Amino acid sequence: MDGARPDDALWFDPAEMLIGGRWLRPAGTLPAENPSTGAEIGAIPRGQPADIDAAVAAAEGALAGDWGRATAAERGRVLARLGRLVAERAETLAVLEAIDVGKPLKQARADALALARYLEFYGGAADKLMGETIPYLPGYTVYTLREPHGVTGHIIPWNYPMQIIGRSVGAALAAGNACVLKPAEEACLTALAFARLAGEAGLPPGALNVVPGLGEEAGAALAAHPGVRHLSFTGSVGVGRMVQAAAARNIVPVTLELGGKSPQIVFEDADLDAALPFLVNAGIQNAGQTCSAASRILVHESRMAEVTARMADRYGALCVGPALADRDVGPLISARQKAVVEGLLALGADLTVAARGRIDPDAPAGGHYVAPVLLAGVRPDHRLAQDEIFGPAQVVIPFADEDQAAAIANGTGYGLVAGVWTRDGARAMRMARRLRAGQVFLNNYGAGGGVELPFGGVGLSGHGREKGFEALYGFTTLKTVAALHG
Ligand code: NAD
Repeated sequence: MDGARPDDALWFDPAEMLIGGRWLRPAGTLPAENPSTGAEIGAIPRGQPADIDAAVAAAEGALAGDWGRATAAERGRVLARLGRLVAERAETLAVLEAIDVGKPLKQARADALALARYLEFYGGAADKLMGETIPYLPGYTVYTLREPHGVTGHIIPWNYPMQIIGRSVGAALAAGNACVLKPAEEACLTALAFARLAGEAGLPPGALNVVPGLGEEAGAALAAHPGVRHLSFTGSVGVGRMVQAAAARNIVPVTLELGGKSPQIVFEDADLDAALPFLVNAGIQNAGQTCSAASRILVHESRMAEVTARMADRYGALCVGPALADRDVGPLISARQKAVVEGLLALGADLTVAARGRIDPDAPAGGHYVAPVLLAGVRPDHRLAQDEIFGPAQVVIPFADEDQAAAIANGTGYGLVAGVWTRDGARAMRMARRLRAGQVFLNNYGAGGGVELPFGGVGLSGHGREKGFEALYGFTTLKTVAALHG
């Protein structure tokens, strides 16, 4: 791993975007901000609909050329090489992400290594994606082919850029698609760095195009583009609806990874020593700006006081500070996000604050810091127990029995992830069946972790699956070939 210093981490011109293998300066730029200080880092591209047109055309060109002709094994080798480059540059990428997103260095490092791991996984899977032969009528041979969609559009948010690029672009490329990536306007630096490394790894021009810009400009143009054959969107429910509507107009499939209000359920027989780190970390990781954050902790009433007290102890020790100081919690992404989170938390004026973390007194005044807060004894129908906060806050909700735990856990519009803590194996299995979620963790909680594990939601959390082999199926279309040969 390299030993990057903040001044060296931005080794390229962030105002350039990648279209058809060429680094171009767009007509306009946007300012990039360091959330830890509020200072401007530099200018990033403000891609326009015409840039999206050019990127889609370049992707179509790649499919008609070298990339389209590459064998599955060749695609796999390029991705594996890219994964190794990402791993070698992990420290640089981590520093870049820390500066751009505000995440503590240890989290940023984990994200960079997760990106490398996605590329390793999908590189290895590229030539193992197979169809089937199907027994049919006499005289027939029937088989299926898994073919790429063609040009895939990827619209991603700012909270985990590297991980989301890995699971979405990594899988799409492995399956043989050519990608147009629109990163978030708040954080696009590691997407641009990734694209530079993709060139070094030998990814043919046009196989990956990166056009940063505003959601309503570059994002909307990509979602609506008739040349895009599959859309993968990660972000808010509101924008997810718009992207799905745009996909509907072109009749193309769409994967939506939206928000969550994920519960961890602590039964009376739970091993609390094992559970505690997961209970708190899954709430405050990335300052709570995690779609799979465990923002609701459901606790059997017999252990309410104990769980609350022990979580409160941990909250009391949490320190919030600048990303490069690598504290427990970093700043929120923007002043806007801070205002949204503080506005939501103001709705909890009637609730009991069990504990609050502290903000490092030396943290720069221009940073977007919010002290983590643990709210106890919350009613399940309270706004803060229903709405996604996307900040460092958790609510603790009591329950009386298994039925009530399941009803509360399933009692929001979301259904992304759930965790169950119990020593009763039969109960754990029952709960896994009853919970409305895309992932259920029994006696652990992986807040979005697990490259190999299919991930996605139900209800307002979205539909379609990324990660694991399942993502490869989503990034292909199935063709059935029926041959009558007598
Ligand atoms: P957002 O929806 O505002 O933005 C996400 C992306 O969509 C950005 O690239 C943005 O530029 C783009 N966009 C905005 N308006 C658009 C439009 N009209 N057309 C096309 N694209 C547009 O979300 P955000 O505020 O950046 O991220 C926070 C939200 O994302 C939270 O609700 C969180 O739960 C969710 N999220 C979900 C997952 C998941 O995997 N389920 C992961 C991360 C974030």
